[in-house]
Amino acid sequence: MNNNNELMFQPFPAPAKDIEIGKIRSDFPILSRSVHGRPLVYLDNGATTQKPRCVVDAMTDEYMNVNSNVHRGVHYLSQQATELHEQARETVRKFINARSTTEVVFTRGTTESINLVASSFIQAFINDGDEIILTEMEHHSNIVPWQLAQARRSFKIKVCPITDEGRLDLEALEQLFTSRTRLLSLTAVSNVLGTVNPVADIIHIAHAHNVPVLVDAAQAAPHLSIDVQAIDCDFLAFSGHKVYGPTGIGVLYGKEHLLEKMPPYMGGGEMIGKVSFEHTTFNSLPFKFEAGTPDYVATTGLARALEYVTAIGIPAIQAHERDLTRYAVERLREIPGMRIFGHPSFPVQTEKCEDGAVISFLVGKIHHLDLGTLLDQLGIAVRTGHHCAEPLMHRLGIEGTVRASFALYNTKEEVDALVEGIDRVIKMF
Ligand code: PLP
Repeated sequence: MNNNNELMFQPFPAPAKDIEIGKIRSDFPILSRSVHGRPLVYLDNGATTQKPRCVVDAMTDEYMNVNSNVHRGVHYLSQQATELHEQARETVRKFINARSTTEVVFTRGTTESINLVASSFIQAFINDGDEIILTEMEHHSNIVPWQLAQARRSFKIKVCPITDEGRLDLEALEQLFTSRTRLLSLTAVSNVLGTVNPVADIIHIAHAHNVPVLVDAAQAAPHLSIDVQAIDCDFLAFSGHKVYGPTGIGVLYGKEHLLEKMPPYMGGGEMIGKVSFEHTTFNSLPFKFEAGTPDYVATTGLARALEYVTAIGIPAIQAHERDLTRYAVERLREIPGMRIFGHPSFPVQTEKCEDGAVISFLVGKIHHLDLGTLLDQLGIAVRTGHHCAEPLMHRLGIEGTVRASFALYNTKEEVDALVEGIDRVIKMF
């Protein structure tokens, strides 16, 4: 077993050009605002990223000049809107290297994508007594949909544990597969620990057991190159708003032969072939899974966001964020009473990005909520709480953490502001 993130998505890229941080920051108007009279230090990117002006402009332009419902009109505006919408699908296809746009379903986000699979896949492929595998580091949106699906089929949910270092226990994972296992669904990057899972290796193992794999790429899409053909995943989900795009739009990638066999998730306009009260047929892929008017302006915004990150280059973003994360872990570790969850590989210098740009921590006996609230008074936005990963909190024996998560526009000065802020809070306690 090779616990090697190099194989995760695409091979580790060649050294990237430095990103022009000043220019990038000026693309995000919100970064120049102040909060509580201080410059905003936005370190809550794992929750949602800020939007570059080009995304907002593209959406404004569409509402001002093109707006019309897609796929239904013969008139000019409808055709133009449809063209933008389907071009956006092609941009997503390229971004994840799917074989065809028939495999790219627009949803409202990662949560809806996983719910879609949990509902439709189990109807097509899971019988009573079957099993699926999740992991201990999943977000609630990759736990609860499966629990809801258990009302339809009585299948068992098995859970792959994590090690004390915050890695998936791959030996334990191997032991969980049986002849009844029908699916493995796991996150590519932990939204709490920052752990980057070796999903290509894991998919290889699962496929050796004839088990398809769903990858939750919510925390991967903004940071890592995704190549669904290279990793050979069966499903992959991500959210637009975490990758500099708008809210309310996301993607489900699915292999065509699986999507073909799955029943529609929702019924309504667009997803049908012919409708009568006696019998209804369904549209072809991917429209079978897209009932109702899609958020066609958001798809344009998403496409613009993916073009934006592609133009900067994921390798450059990855290198910048790795540098920043390493610096942050080193600086945070200097703070007395600091407890960082995950990130065992730092400060070991490595050419592989073994941990993502997410750092969860606690300081002494200070409650995470108090720390987050006081940092906010200094203009520093961090996340506090269980991060929608309560089973992981139970595993770690804690109720919650403070989480700093970085994006391509964050700087070492902002890390310094975080460290100084924590020092000030410690002095207050
Ligand atoms: N999966 C992971 C790992 C996440 O971090 C999140 C959001 O934080 C989600 C799923 C859910 O994403 P959304 O709320 O955009 O559907």
